[in-house]
Amino acid sequence: MTTIPHWIAGAPAEGTGRTTAPVYNPATGREQARVVLAGAADVDAAVTAARTAFTTWSESSLSQRTQVLFAFRQLLVEHEEELARIISAEHGKTVGDARGEIARGREVVEFACGLGDVLKGDFSDQVSRGVDVHSFRQPLGVVAGITPFNFPAMVPLWMHPIAIATGNTFVLKPSERDPSAANFVAELYRRAGLPDGVFNVVHGDKTAVDALLDHPGVEAVSFVGSTPIAQYVHERATAAGKRVQALGGAKNHAVVLPDADLEFAADHITAGAYGSAGERCMALSVAVAVGPAADALVAILERKAREVKVGPGDAPGTEMGPLVTAAARDRVERAVAEAPAQGATVVVDGRGLKVEDHPECADGFFTGPSLLDHVTTAMDAYRQELFGPVLAVVRVDTLDDAIDLINANPYGNGTAVFTASGEAARRFQRGVKVGMIGVNVPVPVPMSYYSFGGWKDSLIGDSPIHGPEGIRFYTRPKVVTTRWPHTEQHVAAGFTFPTS
Ligand code: NAD
Repeated sequence: MTTIPHWIAGAPAEGTGRTTAPVYNPATGREQARVVLAGAADVDAAVTAARTAFTTWSESSLSQRTQVLFAFRQLLVEHEEELARIISAEHGKTVGDARGEIARGREVVEFACGLGDVLKGDFSDQVSRGVDVHSFRQPLGVVAGITPFNFPAMVPLWMHPIAIATGNTFVLKPSERDPSAANFVAELYRRAGLPDGVFNVVHGDKTAVDALLDHPGVEAVSFVGSTPIAQYVHERATAAGKRVQALGGAKNHAVVLPDADLEFAADHITAGAYGSAGERCMALSVAVAVGPAADALVAILERKAREVKVGPGDAPGTEMGPLVTAAARDRVERAVAEAPAQGATVVVDGRGLKVEDHPECADGFFTGPSLLDHVTTAMDAYRQELFGPVLAVVRVDTLDDAIDLINANPYGNGTAVFTASGEAARRFQRGVKVGMIGVNVPVPVPMSYYSFGGWKDSLIGDSPIHGPEGIRFYTRPKVVTTRWPHTEQHVAAGFTFPTS
């Protein structure tokens, strides 16, 4: 059985061997590897390597960093298929969807390739007689990324290209459920010419996370995962004096107005709800049917849910793969089982799905798409982030009711409105307390040159990720006020603040 090592100072590292954890192939349900779990000594080794590398990397020129990033971007293109298959085999998502996450992550590298532009400071000439002011930004030092299982390539790529481009060194603690993508990316960085120690990977669980949060050598922590852990990470790392960005969970609503093209809306909501088996923080898990849209919408959603092709992620034609673990599958199926007792109608019941064309998948962690109707905000299926292929339909009377419903939800990550009315879309986008909004777009993930982040319990603290906010997060500003005295025009020192 393969053991997946850490990656420290430019090479694989077995570490101190605290313990290992199983890595499954979710499609077959079989353990396919073990991953080492870091203890505090392993984390310290990674942080020490990163601190050593920082002394030279932070002094490297913009053109040297840009060259490494361009080379890294090219390697991501050349090895996309290989990386997509690694992701699919450990996560369960389709290879096509894994390619998509690599492409979206690569866009952040492309943004970081323009660091010469985004790192430009400001200059003000002659703010006082003979005095100029300029500003520039400097890296923080060693920064850590702690990431979730659902995007093992893309979410870390939201972080490390920008951190590294701005002169920091990085320690990544990826999810222990699908750890291999992180090591593959580390190897690509090495081949791109990144100096040893600038990018490190420690695998592990809470022990590794806590060691990073407490380590005095770590200046900042980027976290993406569930809300309770985001809150925990934010609290513990800020208490240790670190800068923290912490993105949490979600419950994303798609509002369908009666004037919408219902076939179009249902098509996109189906893909947004069941794509990646609902294991996306931007997945649509609630369809809010407004007024007379409801019955027709549910009928089309039912037809489309039944048409979703479920199978192993590497089989041609598969649209939806298994869930990441048996526990995740059981949690989702329990929620569907309990929904009728709380008053919901189970329109499509995905429980117990068998992938018949693939006998090797008999023990895989599959469940089919489920569709619940007449869901209310009091029900568990609405209140919990199920993080699986379950779409709940809530019926309301008006657009304003839909906006109020979304605003009463503790999460505020993404939302979408389906309508033919520009006025309604405008009212919606101005009214909802949500960070990322789609108008006839189901999963409105911002491009890399914007920043990604929700509101309320979907983002703890105040810093969204990547784009301009990423540059700000990974750097500190300096403002320099300069005078070069003219020997013949002596400027007298004043005991009061200058007024001109
Ligand atoms: P998770 O919170 O369980 O794990 C995230 C990371 O935290 C992992 O690296 C994990 O090892 C670590 N961790 C887990 N438990 C911990 C503990 N008790 N103490 C310290 N560290 C701990 O999340 P997940 O199940 O891997 O991912 C799914 C969640 O991530 C969902 O809630 C989803 O909405 C969220 N997510 C959010 C975004 C976003 O941008 N807002 C993006 C992707 C995923």
